[in-house]
Amino acid sequence: MDYYSRQISNLIEELSSLPGIGSKSAQRLAFHILNMPLEHVEKLSSAILNARQKVKYCKTCYTLTDEEYCPICRNSDRDHKTIMVVEDTRDLAAYEKTNKYEGVYHVLHGAISPMLGIGPNDIRLKELMQRLQEEVGEVIIATNSSLEGETTAMYISKLIKPAGIKVTRIASGVPVGGDLEYIDEMTLLRALEGRTEL
Ligand code: ZN
Repeated sequence: MDYYSRQISNLIEELSSLPGIGSKSAQRLAFHILNMPLEHVEKLSSAILNARQKVKYCKTCYTLTDEEYCPICRNSDRDHKTIMVVEDTRDLAAYEKTNKYEGVYHVLHGAISPMLGIGPNDIRLKELMQRLQEEVGEVIIATNSSLEGETTAMYISKLIKPAGIKVTRIASGVPVGGDLEYIDEMTLLRALEGRTEL
C-alpha cells in the first residue's frame, strides 16, 4: 500500500485487523472516515476508547458491563435461582430480546474446544461453579449447538449433576453450528421452552 501516505496506510491496516473487514472494506471505511467531519470522527474514536476502557466483566455473571454488577444481576425482580449458561454476551442479548426469560445468566466467554486447545480453565467455568455454592434451582445450558457448544454442555452437566442441581439443555430446534445470536426470537423461545433435563 505504498501508493497511500503513511497515515492512510496505517488507518487501513488497523481497520483491516477487525473481524470481517477485508482490505477492500478497510480502504472504503478509511476513505469514508477521512471525508467525515472532524467532530464526528472524534465522537467515533472516543466511543471506541471509552467502551474499551470502561467496559468490564460483571462480578457475578461475567457479562460485559460498565458497572461492577450488570443490570440483570442487580434486578431483584429476576429469578436468581435459575442460571442460564451462554457462550458470550451476544447470546445473552439474544435471549434478553425475547423478553420472556426471567432468570439470570452466566457468560462463559467461549466454549471448550480440544481442536483449538481451549480447555475448561480457559472459560469462566470455575466462576460458575463458585456461584453454585449458593442456592440454585436450575442451570440451563444454552451453549451453541456446534461441536464445541455440545462438548461444553456435556462437560458442565457432568460437573454439576453430582451436586444434585437440576441441569437442563435447550432444545436443539436450533440449527447445528448456528450461532445463537443469529437465530430469531421465536426459535430461541421454543428452544428454551423445550429444554430437557440432562
Ligand atoms: Zn451480571
